[in-house]
Amino acid sequence: MDAPAATRPAPEAPKLADLQVLRKLAALGFLAGALLDLGTLVLPDPDPRDHTHMVLIALLPLTFGLALLFGRRLSDRAIKLIAVSGGILTISAMVAVILPLGAALLFYCWPAMTAGYFCTRRELIANMVLLAGTCGAALAVSRSEEITGSTWGVTVSISVIVALGVSGLVRRNVALLEQLHEVATVDALTGLLNRRAFEPILEQEVARSRRAGVPVSVALFDLDHFKLVNDRFGHAAGDAALQRFGALLQAETRTTDVAARTGGEEFAVLLFGTDTEGARTWAEGVSALLIADTLDDDIVLSTSVGIATLGGTITTPDELLLAADRALYAAKAAGRRQVVVASPEHQRVLTVAA
Ligand code: GH3
Ligand code: MG
Ligand code: MG
Repeated sequence: MDAPAATRPAPEAPKLADLQVLRKLAALGFLAGALLDLGTLVLPDPDPRDHTHMVLIALLPLTFGLALLFGRRLSDRAIKLIAVSGGILTISAMVAVILPLGAALLFYCWPAMTAGYFCTRRELIANMVLLAGTCGAALAVSRSEEITGSTWGVTVSISVIVALGVSGLVRRNVALLEQLHEVATVDALTGLLNRRAFEPILEQEVARSRRAGVPVSVALFDLDHFKLVNDRFGHAAGDAALQRFGALLQAETRTTDVAARTGGEEFAVLLFGTDTEGARTWAEGVSALLIADTLDDDIVLSTSVGIATLGGTITTPDELLLAADRALYAAKAAGRRQVVVASPEHQRVLTVAA
């Protein structure tokens, strides 16, 4: 049985670096590398002294590629370790034996790029140390005559520059993505979630409620005669009143509940683990607090509330919202400033009216 979430459910954060993408790309890269390596044996080669070693070295990318393709339950860490560190080891092994060396050192750009894109700062540093060490060792044992005093330094510097450049760009993009995500999911006036963010969480929590056999209720609030507040006191005062009500909802919800501003003067609260009676008592408390909060001011606010709980004929998130909306409509029709719980009667009356 699922335990109720200890923290407030939040909209899913955006992800730029999907490790499953790395897994597939790296698997293809390793297998293509192995083929390329073996291909050099049949293609014209100015220096065939390296052929035996090249056959042995093809085993490395082959093993890493197959591990990424068919490995079960590979953790994110394992994927990064095989794809990035495995890539560095493969290239260093190739650099140690390939003749002529040619442009083989340029292959380090691939693990450097993937390290910059997918790794944490600490993993990036570890991989650059691995690159510097194994590249140095490979150049030391290489029989290539093309190696000069600066080959190691240039190779490592270029790799570090590529890794840091990619890493900087990714971090900048993630920050931008997070800003965009916030703008798209948070209501700027109240700081509560907006309808776009609320609906997927409602779906997720309804599914969780079903699995865990825990009740879930929704309370829809619509401030009464709010147009009059704007007309009498101005839009800025209306905005301030909405902010105060948003803060009240935030203060009155538990960490497992989710409050959202779903429209102009309309708010929704998802109450996880709360049955109908619990939701009614809670909503009455909030309504009373709203009235008490505004009693001393010129602006006296009240709210109508519709409550619905999952269960019986209400089985989906849409039905839950619709039932709460109908109860809210009934609260308005009955004179406002009250909490109404959804009943089959509202459903029937409104269906007939429609
Ligand atoms: P009812 O009791 O039937 O809900 O009456 P109402 O006046 O609250 O409802 P109606 O839908 O007629 O009007 C809603 C008002 O809410 C009109 C609109 O100006 C105001 N409103 C919506 N969004 C905002 C906002 O962001 N800021 C301010 N100040 N007012 C808003
Ligand atoms: Mg309204
Ligand atoms: Mg209203």
